[in-house]
Amino acid sequence: MKTLLVAEYRDGELLNNSYELVAFAEQLGADSAMFLVGSDSVLPAYNGTLYLADVGKYGEFNPAVHKQLLLDAIAKEQPDMVVFSHSSYGWDLAPRISLALKVAHISEVIDIVDGVPVVPACNAKLRRDVKAKTTQMVLTLQGGAFGLEDEPSGNPTVVSIDTDAAAQVEFCGYEEAEAGGVDLSKAEVIVSAGRGIGKPENLKIIEAFAKALGGEYGASRPVVDSEWADHSRQVGTTGQTVSPKLYVACGISGAIQHLAGMKKSEFIVAINTDKDAPIGEVADVLIVADLKEFVPAMTEKIKNL
Ligand SMILES: Cc1cc2nc3c(=O)[nH]c(=O)nc-3n(C[C@H](O)[C@H](O)[C@H](O)COP(=O)(O)OP(=O)(O)OC[C@H]3O[C@@H](n4cnc5c(N)ncnc54)[C@H](O)[C@@H]3O)c2cc1C
Repeated sequence: MKTLLVAEYRDGELLNNSYELVAFAEQLGADSAMFLVGSDSVLPAYNGTLYLADVGKYGEFNPAVHKQLLLDAIAKEQPDMVVFSHSSYGWDLAPRISLALKVAHISEVIDIVDGVPVVPACNAKLRRDVKAKTTQMVLTLQGGAFGLEDEPSGNPTVVSIDTDAAAQVEFCGYEEAEAGGVDLSKAEVIVSAGRGIGKPENLKIIEAFAKALGGEYGASRPVVDSEWADHSRQVGTTGQTVSPKLYVACGISGAIQHLAGMKKSEFIVAINTDKDAPIGEVADVLIVADLKEFVPAMTEKIKNL
């Protein structure tokens, strides 16, 4: 089994999600080569062939040109799988590649079991096993689903690649989102509210608990999507990545996209009515209780210490 891993580069930096692709290949037990439109001054810590196109010449976002560069690398490598991160770069480029190759495209892979990709379904309530019917396939990997055990290391064997494909768009640059809301990445204690809080009024229970512990409150995506909390409070792949000393997950099931944003917390406490909730797999302590009863009682105890 051979994989071609499409690494990412932004604003002069190699993105860390590139190493999640390496972890995926390792988990699969597959050989790999890497593709990057980047710079030879910022090479990935990676042992293997790196097909490198010069970002100075081709730009960081240039889909038609990156597609052609990648197709050339694919023609040389003949990988069984072309693997992207499930990022804005991957979302854009992966379908172009699968269409050009006329091969299966499987999005948002969270696991691989006996060589078969697993993807979330029904808001991550179900897992769907998807087998490609073509021998070659294109995959995107959900952020945080695959991680290296050790620090990445190695020196790639660089193969420079070029193309004369014409750009179809002009990349004008990045625009920073307006700063605002709360920066959870600096909080030492975070108490997060999940859908299990039931109704928006119950957010104040979580807020009071966070305050009693001297921390900030966060939220899972459904709580933010329901407009019960501001987006700046969201933890997860499409929210903030946090690593506080203490993370308390209240009424949060532990979907992969939430875990990706908080699993590096030093100590994790989960409060959930379901003893089998997946959050239990990463929690240091799982308290099986109704948060509406447990959290206010605990808050009172802490206040009275
Ligand atoms: C592309 C993409 C990106 C995403 N990005 C994010 C992201 O950044 N962050 C994120 O959080 N999600 C994200 N999601 C959504 C994610 O897949 C899950 O749907 C979401 O995390 C579930 O939120 P939850 O745990 O609050 O809700 P649920 O999964 O509905 O879990 C609710 C939990 O509350 C428990 N519960 C119910 N009542 C009580 C009670 N009274 N007391 C205690 N426990 C109770 C239940 O047992 C359950 O475990 C993303 C999804 C996609 C597809």
